[in-house]
Amino acid sequence: MTPTIGVLALQGDFAAHATALEAAGARGVECRTAAEVARVDGLVIPGGESTTLLRLLAGSGIEQAVRDLLGRGGAVFGTCAGAILLAREVAAPAQSSWGLLDIAVERNAYGRQVESFEGAVPGGRFGPEPLPVVFIRAPRIRRVGTDVETLLALEGEPILVRQGRVLAGTFHPELAADRRVHRAFVELTARKGAAAEARRP
Ligand code: GLN
Repeated sequence: MTPTIGVLALQGDFAAHATALEAAGARGVECRTAAEVARVDGLVIPGGESTTLLRLLAGSGIEQAVRDLLGRGGAVFGTCAGAILLAREVAAPAQSSWGLLDIAVERNAYGRQVESFEGAVPGGRFGPEPLPVVFIRAPRIRRVGTDVETLLALEGEPILVRQGRVLAGTFHPELAADRRVHRAFVELTARKGAAAEARRP
C-alpha cells in the first residue's frame, strides 16, 4: 500500500520534501491545518526557522493533531527546524518544543564559519554508499536518550535519530538527490498501514 505522507507547509522548505516523498514511494501532500494532519499516515516537519514555525503553529491545533497521529500509529519526521520542534530540550536560545523525542539540541551550533555546508557521511545502515548531507544553520544534537537510536552520524555526533515512530535529522535530506532517508521514513510510515491491514477482518 502507498502511505499518504503530509508535509507541514506553513513555512520553510516543504515543496522539495513532497517531491522527495513521491520519489520514495509515498503520496506526498501539503498540510496547513490540523484537519489535514488528521488525514495522513505520516508527517514531515521541514526545516526553516523554528521560532517562526512555533509562532505560526500557535493556536492551530496542529501539535495535538501530531500527537493524535502518533497515537494512532502514524510516524513523524522532523528535519532541522522540525527536529528542534520535536526535541525534549532546546538551547541557544532556549525555546519551547513538543518533547516528542528524547534529545537535547543546540540551535545554530556549527558556528558562523561553517553555518551551512555540504558533505557526505558513512551510509551506516543505509548501505555502503556514503550519504550526501546538506546543513543549513543546523542544530547539533547534544544528548540522546536511552531509547533513541542513532541512524547517521557526522564525526561521531548523531545527525539522524529515531525513537519509535519519531525520526529527526539535523540536515536537509530533501536537498540532496539521494532518497534513502525519505525511503526509510516511507517504510516507517508504511508499517502502520501493515498493522491496520492485518487488523481488518
Ligand atoms: N536555525 C534554524 C532554527 O534554529 C534551523 C535551520 C534550518 O531548519 N535549516 O530554527
